Amino acid sequence: MNKRGILVLSMAATMLLSTVGCSSSGGDNASGGENLPKIGATVYKADDNFISSVRRELEANAEGVAELTVDDSQNDQAKQLDQIDTMIAKGAKVLAINLVDPKAASSVIEKAQAADLPVVFFNKEPDEAAMASYDKAYYVGTISKESGVMQGNVIVEQWNANKDKWDKNGDGKIQYVMIKGEPGHPDAEARTEWSVKTVNEAGIETEELAIDTGMWDAAKATEKMDAWLAKFGDKIEFVICNNDGMASGAVASLEKEGYFSGDKFMPVVGVDAIPEIVTLIEQDKVVGTVLNDASNQAKAVIDLSLNLANGKDAVEGTDWKLENKAVRVPYVGVTKANINDVK
Ligand code: BGC
Ligand code: CA
Repeated sequence: MNKRGILVLSMAATMLLSTVGCSSSGGDNASGGENLPKIGATVYKADDNFISSVRRELEANAEGVAELTVDDSQNDQAKQLDQIDTMIAKGAKVLAINLVDPKAASSVIEKAQAADLPVVFFNKEPDEAAMASYDKAYYVGTISKESGVMQGNVIVEQWNANKDKWDKNGDGKIQYVMIKGEPGHPDAEARTEWSVKTVNEAGIETEELAIDTGMWDAAKATEKMDAWLAKFGDKIEFVICNNDGMASGAVASLEKEGYFSGDKFMPVVGVDAIPEIVTLIEQDKVVGTVLNDASNQAKAVIDLSLNLANGKDAVEGTDWKLENKAVRVPYVGVTKANINDVK
């Protein structure tokens, strides 16, 4: 389905949810009409930029095929575990879980196993031991390392094309600051490591001026960038962000200091390709990102959940490939050159 189709569907889903919201969340399928399988889903934090797209797409894909409830765990793992108890009590046939804490998978699995329910984790990958401990546990996400390597390739390509201007101190190295996502999150760890490794492997030396977490959050990234600009100013030659939310926060900080007007410029990269960043790339305020395909990840979550709820094989009748109980949706590197492909 194209983006517009998905948008229309998700708007329809939102309208439907807001009109029938109370009765459907009441639990017992009071309408009595169709008997769609119940999927109990959580998102770790509904106001996360990327996760809000995933949530919209989950709702769009469930429309007419499943009775989906999506709880916001508000970044609180204890709350999420309570939400899971409630879903099970209300008759969920499958759980679709975006963990708050990637290390809490075994607590979720215990609950699923006690109720003999399949569980599809998404976005925050559980560790291998937890996944191996339950035959009905699945994962939908990406290969975290791939996003780091692709972001590194974007940096290499952009730096090589512009280093005459961007290597401000002329030492041939990239002096960078790194705004990291949530520590311990597989995506944050892999992007931090592989973005820079990839640049170094391409023969470009780097020097890290500062690194800190912005917890995936734009406002926190603005604060970090404010402080680093005050400290390092134009010694900074690149701003590497683990996600687009934080890249937009960094751009906001840079704009306050007069960047992106006249010839005052700073290269910034992110990951996700959220609509806001696509616009910033078109405006030459962000040099690149990596598409994190919310739409296909959500589709895979619903496809697998539906199959499992109906007692079928997880990927039966779909194009998804399971490898070690995981479906991996590929990333795509994005710069101004291919921006139209992701729009
Ligand atoms: C995304 C981030 C998001 C995080 C949440 C990552 O895959 O790139 O934008 O905040 O998932 O878990
Ligand atoms: Ca330099």
